[in-house]
Amino acid sequence: MSSNPHGNYQPIFILPEGSQRNTGKDAQRMNINAAKIVAETVRTTLGPKGMDKMLVDSLGEVTVTNDGVTILKEMNIEHPSAKMIVEVAKTQEDEVGDGTTTAVVLAGELLKRAESLLEQDIHPTVIAKGYRIAAEKAQVILNSLAQPVSPKDTPLLGKIASTAMTGKGAENTKGLLSDIAIKAVRQVTRLVDGKYLVDLDDVKLEKKVGSSVEETELIPGVVMDKERVHASMPTEVKAARIALIDSALEIRNTEVDAKISITDPEKMQAFLDMEEGMLRKMVEVIAEKEVNVVFCQKGVDDLAQHFFAKRGIYVVRRVKKSDMEKLAKATGATIVSDLKDLSSKDLGAAGVVEEVRVGDEGMTYVRGCKNPRSVTILIRGGTEHVIDEVKRALDDALGDIAASLRLQKVVAGAGAPEIELARDLRHFAEGLSGREQLAVKAFAEAMEIIPRTLAENAGLDPIDVLTELKAAHDKGRKWAGINVFTGKVMDAWKEGVIEPLKIKTQAVSSAAEVAVMILRIDDVILSEDQSKQQPPQGQYPGMPEM
Ligand code: ADP
Ligand code: MG
Repeated sequence: MSSNPHGNYQPIFILPEGSQRNTGKDAQRMNINAAKIVAETVRTTLGPKGMDKMLVDSLGEVTVTNDGVTILKEMNIEHPSAKMIVEVAKTQEDEVGDGTTTAVVLAGELLKRAESLLEQDIHPTVIAKGYRIAAEKAQVILNSLAQPVSPKDTPLLGKIASTAMTGKGAENTKGLLSDIAIKAVRQVTRLVDGKYLVDLDDVKLEKKVGSSVEETELIPGVVMDKERVHASMPTEVKAARIALIDSALEIRNTEVDAKISITDPEKMQAFLDMEEGMLRKMVEVIAEKEVNVVFCQKGVDDLAQHFFAKRGIYVVRRVKKSDMEKLAKATGATIVSDLKDLSSKDLGAAGVVEEVRVGDEGMTYVRGCKNPRSVTILIRGGTEHVIDEVKRALDDALGDIAASLRLQKVVAGAGAPEIELARDLRHFAEGLSGREQLAVKAFAEAMEIIPRTLAENAGLDPIDVLTELKAAHDKGRKWAGINVFTGKVMDAWKEGVIEPLKIKTQAVSSAAEVAVMILRIDDVILSEDQSKQQPPQGQYPGMPEM
């Protein structure tokens, strides 16, 4: 409002009509609520006793999962600060590959605790500062809690893998899948300057519906769900010289709809001859380089297939782009677009390329690759749903083993590190002054949401469980965690619930980061388009009301 020379008040509009604006406490409340709703949504899935969510996308595709990041991605969340929480899950997924629910639940709880500090009239910048101090201290505490791990330590790696897969719908085959994950990670690990570099890009997960999960296997090299294009091509090529081509081996380009009108039959014959000549030439250019295997990302003309077959060249067409990249890395080949550019230097090498019958279809196996580190896990299972869930479980196991080896540090889980963290942070807060102390204490308490949720999801009384856990930690049992199956306090380390340190450090730091970011917002301005899409007052489509 502003006064004009006559003393009348008139509103001043600085935003276009239709925009929506929330400021100060309203903005904070709205943002915190949206974040809490997201956290609340995935909270019930945490831990081995967590529930599953059934997600149905706009095309009616059904996914049943308890994987935090999968759930949040499929929900297509619209609210701006809720989206920031989803980003936390994605960062966690990219950096570690596991712990997405943990990160989101922590972020939600940090904001919930901040809300009550705000109600006590503590300024958001003070809370933000306290949270930052606490997050930094948390890194130190977690690091000193951690234990070492090495790639040779098979039993410990097995515990990491099986913890990652607990409750992920792969229970019966956990042993087999753990073994496969350990072998795969070892294969792609290199020791450089005292550090283990683990490149999970070298591990390909290929799915093939049929048979059962027990038939899942680790295959050295690259495996593709593709047959050779022509039945008279060889089924096996030894000492393979491989060309990777990402353009079509055809003359007629369907993208350019050329019309040729031919009036007399002789011209027709001439035209066909010319076409045949061009295809023959194409095949010759490739064959000249003594290529015996071709992987083409696009189509291959029937006639060209016939010429390739006559020369004993193994050809696969319509190979996925991601597979072309894997093949390039594994065999040392360069992907070529224009045949004119193809030279011997571009070719890749493999011991053998062969078509293997899996079920009643053929798959192409590329073994004995130039890069011995590339491996494929061929996942089998009765249905697409089963295979997808096994794939997610394997992804977590691979990610957790890799994350453990990269830092060479692990912690026990089952809520033990969070209780220990809360304890040490509370102690640390004692040495701080005034209002920051309150914020650090709130941060400490927020950590306890993990064991509390594990207890709740297991149908246990969270207050009893927390009291018992705290008592155990006070007695110096630093790995005291909750046995979600019996409801008793257990030594999580001895029971083999082991996770990479990185899950915890990453989850705590990104949760704190997003909480601070959201707390510092005191003004939300939605443009007209956005405010039309969203009903006012924190009710958003697809989300439960709180
Ligand atoms: P996230 O997406 O955060 O990885 P999960 O559903 O995988 O969520 O649950 C991870 C939590 O479950 C961790 O706190 C971990 O310590 C705990 N956990 C895993 N296995 C067990 C177990 N056998 N007993 C108790 N807690 C477990
Ligand atoms: Mg997990």
